[in-house]
Amino acid sequence: MNTSEPDYSHLTRRHPCLSDGPGLRSGRLHLPVSPRCNIQCRFCRRAFNGLEERPGVARGILDLADVPALLARALELCPEIAVVGIAGPGDTLASDHALEAFRIVGRLQPDLVKCLSTNGLLLEERLSELLAVGVATVTVTVNGVRPETVSRIVASVALEGFRQAGEQAAEQLTRRQLAGIRAAAAAGLLVKVNMVLIPGLNDGEVAATAEAVRRAGAALFNLIPLLPQGDFARFRPPSCGDLQAARSLAEAHLPVFRHCHHCRADAVGVPGVSDLSGALYGASARPVETFSHG
Ligand code: SF4
Ligand code: SF4
Repeated sequence: MNTSEPDYSHLTRRHPCLSDGPGLRSGRLHLPVSPRCNIQCRFCRRAFNGLEERPGVARGILDLADVPALLARALELCPEIAVVGIAGPGDTLASDHALEAFRIVGRLQPDLVKCLSTNGLLLEERLSELLAVGVATVTVTVNGVRPETVSRIVASVALEGFRQAGEQAAEQLTRRQLAGIRAAAAAGLLVKVNMVLIPGLNDGEVAATAEAVRRAGAALFNLIPLLPQGDFARFRPPSCGDLQAARSLAEAHLPVFRHCHHCRADAVGVPGVSDLSGALYGASARPVETFSHG
């Protein structure tokens, strides 16, 4: 490792999703507080139920007023929790809910690591707010870097108050994602990049994506196999061999995280070891009757 690279060991040893070291024994609490998204990925079908195990799914949107009680209960159920993450079900920066939830967590449990996942559209714009509430780690989902590829994955992007589609909108999204990663890394945040691997669509630009985000300052790369749904319901999910090949390509540029469990937006516990989401959220989440993808 280059000795001039930043030392994130104070984070990686406490976070279950940043290394294959002692952090793997730590727990994380996901707070599903973010209701909206500002882009529309064609594979995304956000949902509210207690059955499916995948990102984008939660039992309901958590009311901020319920955060203090849930946090206390989660730490009782799982004292290994070292990280509070906000990963949806919508984008965490498309509304103020995630920032407000982190403010509450910081007041009550200042030692917990605060971790935010975003599509990156507003990362640079809202970075000072993230720093103010003490976010230490950020995951940005970047599913490609070429406009023709990104425009096939993302149906629309909210830019200057309008939903825009096509390669120009995709180019703007990528530009903002890389600028956000650059700014976050420069501010000392550990940036991990998630890429949803879609055979036949973006598997040819894994290396280019890993290289671009490494140049911007990302420290870690995580490949997530496509779960075929939404407009991509008929797509083939990657095989284990596809995933291994893609990881090898990415690894030429960045360390690759290989322990991801593709958790729900309301996951609780030690990933792959304990699943306390039902015990914590089963009774308290409020079902959402209408949900807007916009
Ligand atoms: Fe769904 Fe996330 Fe894409 Fe928004 S950014 S449409 S929540 S996958
Ligand atoms: Fe960690 Fe993967 Fe779960 Fe996110 S989805 S909390 S990276 S194991």
